[in-house]
Amino acid sequence: MCTKADMHLKDRMKPAQKLDIAVIGAGWYGCHIALELKKEGHHVVVFEKQPDILQGISGTFGIRLHKGPHYPRSKPTREACRDVFEKFCHTYPELVVAHEQSIYGLGERDALGYASKVTPEVFHDVCNESPECRTLDVEQLGFAGLISAYDMDEPSIVIGNRLRSALKRRLHHASVDVRVGCDVKEITKADSKQQVSVDDSVHAFDVVVNATAYHSLIPAGILKSLPVDIEVTYQACIGLVYEDQTPQDIPFSFIVMDGWFPCIMPAISTNERPCRDYLIIHGAYTVMGSYDSLQEAQDLLGRLDDAVIGTKVRSHIEHELERFWPGYTARFVYKGWRGATLPKLKTRAEFRSSLTFERDGVIYIFPGKINNVFNAAEETLTLVDYISKQRMGVLPLAAQSTSAVHTCNGVCYTTQSAFSTATQELAQKPSAGEQSTSNLQSLSIMDPEFGVGVEL
Ligand SMILES: Cc1cc2nc3c(=O)[nH]c(=O)nc-3n(C[C@H](O)[C@H](O)[C@H](O)COP(=O)(O)OP(=O)(O)OC[C@H]3O[C@@H](n4cnc5c(N)ncnc54)[C@H](O)[C@@H]3O)c2cc1C
Repeated sequence: MCTKADMHLKDRMKPAQKLDIAVIGAGWYGCHIALELKKEGHHVVVFEKQPDILQGISGTFGIRLHKGPHYPRSKPTREACRDVFEKFCHTYPELVVAHEQSIYGLGERDALGYASKVTPEVFHDVCNESPECRTLDVEQLGFAGLISAYDMDEPSIVIGNRLRSALKRRLHHASVDVRVGCDVKEITKADSKQQVSVDDSVHAFDVVVNATAYHSLIPAGILKSLPVDIEVTYQACIGLVYEDQTPQDIPFSFIVMDGWFPCIMPAISTNERPCRDYLIIHGAYTVMGSYDSLQEAQDLLGRLDDAVIGTKVRSHIEHELERFWPGYTARFVYKGWRGATLPKLKTRAEFRSSLTFERDGVIYIFPGKINNVFNAAEETLTLVDYISKQRMGVLPLAAQSTSAVHTCNGVCYTTQSAFSTATQELAQKPSAGEQSTSNLQSLSIMDPEFGVGVEL
């Protein structure tokens, strides 16, 4: 049962106590949350298992600083993207690169012959939620197979070494203690402390933030304690990299919606201009498999090689790109591919913002878009403050909920959380056989040797 006690959001402005906090995982979520916790005066240690920061999903794929139209069926996702868009640009100006054009087109038919999942009217309205949105003349654009198209100021976030060096500088400047090559094996509770085990050593903290992209240290059965019944799938995702033979000084993006369509976005990992590398993902062909366990998704990713991607996947992708951009393959040359495993929520509306919740002194982050690092950090600070006030006795330990934090089944989440604001979307799952990105098994369709999967 959920009850309320008294703590207001504004109270978070004055941290009750400086805590020792471990952040596990140095992707976009871990790095940003560590910086925000440090600003509040907490003692923060980041543990990253890789030899360097940002070697996971963020440093490879976190490209578009979304304004919303990529999620035409999920209003909460679009709102969450827009709410923090300006804040992101303002906080990380050196990491945001403006485009010549960011084109969102509504495709006539997707790769499997289906009509777009949204009507031209809905697509128009969704794009025009961004006030600067311009309607483009599809006849003059030089593309094909589009019903309508819009241009908006949706920039890219840099990735790779450029992102890595910039965030390293910020973490160093803020004196955040970052320990790389530290694979956290276990978190155990001892009295009021959390014991974090790394190799042979154990470190004690007041609070732990699990920012491992929901990959590690997730207690069995925790989903059952959450206030909304959510389902998670782990996906083996890839992206294909192409080099632009006639690169323009200012990059562009071209996204076709809404279904099994292609996306072209700049992959900016250096300060060099012009931008030559573009990353291609496709609704039908780059989510190679969807599984209940991370291990299965990682196994599939481990089995992919240049032969499978460079032949089977690439030919489907290039066929699709030519369909919407006649002449694409004459201008862009295939360079290679990248892969990662991504957790995704199964929702009918394709909800893609982050979820943040706490149990037993550990704050779990289920990642969304890169924009949502701000939502996750804000919610983390509120939860940390709640824990700290409970420990100081400002709030009774038995306090179930406050005006800023709800508690259900021992799990705490904030009133800003998607558990509070997008309950209905989170609860609505795609039905069996429904066309959804959460049950994609593209590789088994393109290459039956990899096993029979759910039909697209
Ligand atoms: C193909 C694709 C395209 C995408 N495109 C976009 C886009 O255009 N725009 C956008 O906003 N988002 C996009 N996303 C989503 C976005 O990139 C991710 O949701 C986000 O980067 C996740 O960030 P993270 O910090 O949670 O994860 P990560 O960046 O993966 O960081 C997690 C870190 O935790 C570390 N770790 C894991 N376990 C442990 C452990 N036990 N001990 C220590 N360290 C550990 C990992 O090594 C890793 O460094 C895309 C995702 C994919 C897959």
